[in-house]
Amino acid sequence: MALKYKYNGKTKFIIVTGGVISGLGKGVAAASIGALLSSKMKVVPIKCDGYLNTDPGTMNPTEHGEVFVLDDGGECDMDFGHYERFLNVTAKKDWSLTMGRIFKMILEKERRGDYLGHTVQFIPHVTDLIKEQFYRIADQEKADVVLIEIGGTIGDLENQFYIEATRQLSHEVGNHNSVFVHLTYVPIPSGVNEQKSKPTQMSVRDLNRLGIYPEIVICRCEEYIKSHLKEKIGLFCNLPADHVISGVDVQHVYECPLVFDAEGISEILSKTLSIYAPPKLEQWSKLVEALKRNQVNPRKTLTVAICGKYLALEDSYASVIEAISHASAHLDLCTKIHWVDTEKIESGAISAETALKGVSAVIVPGGFGSRGIEGKIEIIRYVRENKIPFLGICYGMQLSVVEFARNVCGMKGAGTIEMESENNHVEFPVIDLLPSQKNIQEMGATMRLGGHDVIIKDSSRAAEIYGSLAIRERFRHRYEVNPKYVLQIEKGDISGAKSQKLFFSGKAANEEIMQIMELSEHPYFMACQFHPELKSSLIHPAPLFFGLLKAADEKK
Ligand code: GLN
Repeated sequence: MALKYKYNGKTKFIIVTGGVISGLGKGVAAASIGALLSSKMKVVPIKCDGYLNTDPGTMNPTEHGEVFVLDDGGECDMDFGHYERFLNVTAKKDWSLTMGRIFKMILEKERRGDYLGHTVQFIPHVTDLIKEQFYRIADQEKADVVLIEIGGTIGDLENQFYIEATRQLSHEVGNHNSVFVHLTYVPIPSGVNEQKSKPTQMSVRDLNRLGIYPEIVICRCEEYIKSHLKEKIGLFCNLPADHVISGVDVQHVYECPLVFDAEGISEILSKTLSIYAPPKLEQWSKLVEALKRNQVNPRKTLTVAICGKYLALEDSYASVIEAISHASAHLDLCTKIHWVDTEKIESGAISAETALKGVSAVIVPGGFGSRGIEGKIEIIRYVRENKIPFLGICYGMQLSVVEFARNVCGMKGAGTIEMESENNHVEFPVIDLLPSQKNIQEMGATMRLGGHDVIIKDSSRAAEIYGSLAIRERFRHRYEVNPKYVLQIEKGDISGAKSQKLFFSGKAANEEIMQIMELSEHPYFMACQFHPELKSSLIHPAPLFFGLLKAADEKK
């Protein structure tokens, strides 16, 4: 059956695969390659995952890392975070392929009768459908370059159809229009103290068996790859030695594009793909320099506490950590992260005061469910009363409202409906289910998701921080501040004994949904229903994070 979409004759394709072991940073490597081209060209990333979930939205963050939410509401793999931060693009959910999505499309086509009575097979139907997605996206986006990252490690069965689809694509688009980049690992075994190339050779050979001959091999290693080893890898992998690139360990992921560029990858890509795209890296390098300088010889060191329950895997808060880094680079600061397990605060194993000793700023990030929630509320009470700069994100904002209602407005039984259970009745549901969420049965892609406009009140701190009264941020939630209690909470303590006031300074454009809250009589107490970390980048740090660290810097 003829493909509906074909090669447009213009787009160049870069296909990134990984070998030897997982966890080498293929997403960062792919994004870094894209970053080098993106100053002159439109680079569109596509991520291919082998798993059967339709998207990562229903996966536990401790298993899969954070869910990265796109402007169009897509719930994606955290690699999309790297792409947006490195490529300066607003990604679309369509650019995230999972085997679950592919099979869903195949079965829908089969039921519609699109296959006209033919047997539906892995080859050609699955591979054709994957290829079609590549061509369609290239076409619709008018992409100069499509950057395809194939998840997993060469040899994984579940990714074979993606590999075969890219092999066919490369054959179809012809010379100078596609290039394969393979990321491998060069170990230096202790005792031997020598860079070892065999795993790389074997991994490239595995790719060769699948009909793919990579033009560039990036070798992740704790050191720069020695020139004799580049020669050796080149000889056994059919490459010029200078196409073997050192993917040396770096302190900050933002150094990667600079390392790759210095290793000559931009020129190799320009030559192989016949494009002219010298990278523009001046501002980027300056900010990376600031990060590195502060690691060695800090102007000032600040400790930022992140208080949550998914602490087993730092990747659950990947974008929050990045956003802290971005703001630190601009403020010429060294920031250290201090993890606070809110379940330990809740159980009384440790007090908020002890947990936050020496901390200059506190973040309560997004979260779900009732576990550890009282610990978060206790942390919020402590930072409010002790005037520690604070940023509450999503659940962090909802719980700030609960804390204020309980401890300032005298509504002792205040809570969120999310914590209600048979033996825990919430007397004042100051956080309630969004009306649009009331009749939803399915879990996947059903929250209030994606980019929404936020209208900011004039002369608020939010207006000052953003320098604008109309912004757009990204959301992922089912609950909201209960509109019934807004007036009462804003009125605060009727006796006037406690003079802090809570003020909702940001609202949704067309609905009565509270989006930003702030407190008076506090150096920096800001909380938002959205996730500002998702739009932060090295060049444009998220204003709420920048404001938090600036307040902490001024206070210390
Ligand atoms: N659990 C809360 C809600 O669904 C907060 C979500 C979040 O923090 N992302 O509204």
